[in-house]
Amino acid sequence: MGTQQQTKSFHNLIGREWLPSNSGETFTVINPADTRIELGVCQQSNEEDVEAAVAAAKQALPDWSAEAAPVRGHYIAKAANLIEERTDEFIKQLIIEVGKSYADAKAEVIRTVRVMRFLAGEAERLKGETIPSWDKEVIGYTKREPVGVVGLITPWNVPLAIAAWKIATALTCGCTVVFKPSSQTPLVSLQLVEAYQEVNLPAGVLNFVTGPGSTVGNAIATHPDIKAISFTGSNKIGLAINQLVAKRGARFQAEMGGKNPFVILNDADLTLAVEHVIAGGFGESGQRCTATSRVIVLPGIAESFIALLKERVGRMKVGNPLDEGTDMGPVIDKGSMESILAYIEIGKRENGQLVTGGGRLTEGDYAHGYFIAPTVFRGITPEMTIAQEEIFGPVISVMEADNFEQALEWANQVEYGLSSTIYTNDMEKAMRFVNGIEAGFTHVNMPSTYSEPHFPFGGIKATGIGGMREVGSTAIDFYTEYKTVYMKPHNQQ
Ligand code: NAD
Repeated sequence: MGTQQQTKSFHNLIGREWLPSNSGETFTVINPADTRIELGVCQQSNEEDVEAAVAAAKQALPDWSAEAAPVRGHYIAKAANLIEERTDEFIKQLIIEVGKSYADAKAEVIRTVRVMRFLAGEAERLKGETIPSWDKEVIGYTKREPVGVVGLITPWNVPLAIAAWKIATALTCGCTVVFKPSSQTPLVSLQLVEAYQEVNLPAGVLNFVTGPGSTVGNAIATHPDIKAISFTGSNKIGLAINQLVAKRGARFQAEMGGKNPFVILNDADLTLAVEHVIAGGFGESGQRCTATSRVIVLPGIAESFIALLKERVGRMKVGNPLDEGTDMGPVIDKGSMESILAYIEIGKRENGQLVTGGGRLTEGDYAHGYFIAPTVFRGITPEMTIAQEEIFGPVISVMEADNFEQALEWANQVEYGLSSTIYTNDMEKAMRFVNGIEAGFTHVNMPSTYSEPHFPFGGIKATGIGGMREVGSTAIDFYTEYKTVYMKPHNQQ
């Protein structure tokens, strides 16, 4: 393997065995804060590997789906305990593999453990209904049954928590899984799978295949034995998979991009608002589907807000997240960095006024990583490209609306509909915002990124396909079918 001799190799999990790909090929995962550091070598899998994983999942399905649901949930709870015990290990992996700050990495691990515990408990609440019949002899009820073998395809930006909630929901419901993580961040996802191995999850219930979306993801999307696919990622890929899945009538759920508005009214607590704009816009280097990307302010506070924001951004420490005190790390890879820098240039060309940032950081320790200065534009109006398209990087656009009505109109004037927030103490306007905003979830005086595992999560408009939420008590809908039962204990006819 030449220069990769020092780098550890990792395999796919098919049934009970850790196996290399049939392709004989591998790819290397690197640290985005210092691209000289190789973190691991993973399998560049192909269709044959997916075929084997599906066969293993299919073989495991009858026993797993027949298992008592609370027993299934108990495996999830035990795996959550292991992850909690290894919190520091998982934090470190998220830092070096994704480039998250310590605080962001820790938040993802905590969220992972909570979501797994909640979904483990859902196994005890996998309820149907009893329904009164017109016939007094009839007992009528519904029960939930697993949809079958499911394919799970995840993005790189939340590689632990999103994988954890898709896997846990599928397992709770009695489905067996073929899981494909993103090729940028497969290692932390692998650690999650290993936790399930250590709690002796039966062989074949959870299979893990790494490799390119165009082969592995495509094979999952088109495999006739995969009855449902849950995808989180970009709109471009989500829409393409939707076409493939629709052709064969399988079930599809996609959670995709966002362009989340943060509205600040004149009476808002500006210090709080600035802190939350920073957390929502620059946390995880702006690479969150729920990231704050458009800040819509009113004339009464525009100047003071922008001055406060500029001053606060000036105090941010950008760097290697392994260094103590780092607020913001790198972006994930060269392609993302170039795409973000291109959006910054578009913003300048379309006459956005640069308040701070606006380029790559390359001096000293930055030289070997993908670092971009936290960037704020003002003077942005709804038709501009950077007010419309998901940048997925540390870029905030400040838009100055005339009044509340225009702020709400602008907030909705995008194709996406994921998160949103308003800062005000005016309850009447807050309620008008809550009722009028076109988003899957919303907040009042809280960051756009805030969510809890037992609340439904997901978007409307171009953000979501499938109309079903992840996590929360409604998550099980996607992974189960209802069976309606009519029963006459003594047939008297
Ligand atoms: P992406 O669409 O590039 O990749 C997502 C996954 O799809 C990866 O595992 C990838 O390998 C796979 N894939 C790629 N091509 C494929 C194909 N042809 N067939 C099947 N699978 C294929 O997205 P990304 O860059 O990893 O993630 C960033 C995007 O995810 C952003 O748009 C972000 O907003 C979105 N996201 C959404 C949510 C949400 O809940 N709404 C959460 C996190 C991220």
